[in-house]
Amino acid sequence: MTTAEITQIQALLSSPKQIVIVPHKNPDGDAMGSTLALYHYLKMYNHNVLVIAPNEYPHFLKWLPGDDTVLKHDSNTKQCNTLLLEADLIFTLDFNALHRVGAMGDVIKESEAIKLMIDHHQQPDDYAKYVFSDVSMSSTCEMVYRFIEMLGNEDKISSEIATCLYTGIMTDTGSFRFPSTTSKTHFIIGKLIESGANNAEIHNNIYDTNSYEKLQLLGCALSNLKVIPELRTAFITLSQDELNQFDFKKGDTEGFVNYGLSLNNIIFAAIFIEHKQENIIKISLRSKGNFSVNEFSRQYFEGGGHTNAAGGKSDLSLNETVEKFISILPSHKKELTA
Ligand code: 5GP
Ligand code: MN
Repeated sequence: MTTAEITQIQALLSSPKQIVIVPHKNPDGDAMGSTLALYHYLKMYNHNVLVIAPNEYPHFLKWLPGDDTVLKHDSNTKQCNTLLLEADLIFTLDFNALHRVGAMGDVIKESEAIKLMIDHHQQPDDYAKYVFSDVSMSSTCEMVYRFIEMLGNEDKISSEIATCLYTGIMTDTGSFRFPSTTSKTHFIIGKLIESGANNAEIHNNIYDTNSYEKLQLLGCALSNLKVIPELRTAFITLSQDELNQFDFKKGDTEGFVNYGLSLNNIIFAAIFIEHKQENIIKISLRSKGNFSVNEFSRQYFEGGGHTNAAGGKSDLSLNETVEKFISILPSHKKELTA
């Protein structure tokens, strides 16, 4: 983002505007943290602001400051569409292409609002007038901090903003351990604690609010874990029957895929989750080092994301999807065993 663009954005924000902020479908901690942080920030400057999420998000994010103001497009379509069409500005956060917001994408495209993207995913589409895209960033929350910093207002960060930003940086960095975590990330985290983010409480709210059934579902997932040592790959499956058996709730499988990656000598992990209602298999992929799951997902599973974390889907059955996955792997043997 250039200095000239920042000056233009400052001018845009110098008088009250109708602003909508949008995270991606099935929002995660970074998506909700970044949108709600920006919500609190823009509210301070007397804008009329709302976060519109494409759909519902997990219970472990439902304590975030401002959660009660978030509208969901899938259950409140008419009102949300009107707001999108009447907005002066639409911020799109933590995604890089309009298909990532489902049915909302067409309405955002149609809206004459000025669009601003803040995002750290690879290969961003070209739909926004102002694009702050940086794939080296740990999280969109880190980018929102830097955006506020570019506007010269980092000393105005409230405890609400700090709490939201801390949450997204923590969840997207695997609690500050992924390689995208830099000294600047830690510097920002320090600033956020000074501004009122309660780190222990945030960690507790996100990670220590499991239900008994969720832990039983994890047990089931771990007993389904398969390893292909010669290709340094591990994968997990969960069928709809298994989800039902353990009373699956949105977000319950978050992080399961990382257990495969925690095995000694494994650098590629996948989880395949059957969603009977949508008739798809939802896929999460993770890797260590140079093996790009973003490329792998784009090539075979209609998805994308980052080098080391990506998502995708399959229209085949659970078994067929796994067979396809296993049959593809040998053609990547060189990269997987390099
Ligand atoms: P997850 O496996 O946690 O759903 O997603 C991992 C990462 O990939 C996240 O950054 C997420 O935003 C991104 N991602 C997930 N699904 C898709 C998809 O279908 N397309 C693209 N482009 N990115 C995705
Ligand atoms: Mn993110």
